[in-house]
Amino acid sequence: MPAKPGLTERACPHCREPVAATASRCPNCRAEFTAEDVQRTVSANVQGILFGLICLSLLLMAVMWWQERYDAAAAAHLNGIENGTIDPLTDQPK
Ligand SMILES: [Zn+2]
Repeated sequence: MPAKPGLTERACPHCREPVAATASRCPNCRAEFTAEDVQRTVSANVQGILFGLICLSLLLMAVMWWQERYDAAAAAHLNGIENGTIDPLTDQPK
């Protein structure tokens, strides 16, 4: 079974062995690739990386948003204890 191609590799359309994304010829079966084949693989890999980065940024933004809300709630709670509107023993409003 051929190995799974990595980000800088792709599967040869003829023998399915991984070859460098920019290779113009398969080192395994000697099949030649067109410039269009090479370009298509490179842009697909770049799109994959961009998609990953976008997902990562969205996740980071969600975590930051949640943390901000959590901090605000914790600060409001501590204020409530300080000014006597929340009972520190029961953690409930008086
Ligand atoms: Zn091949």
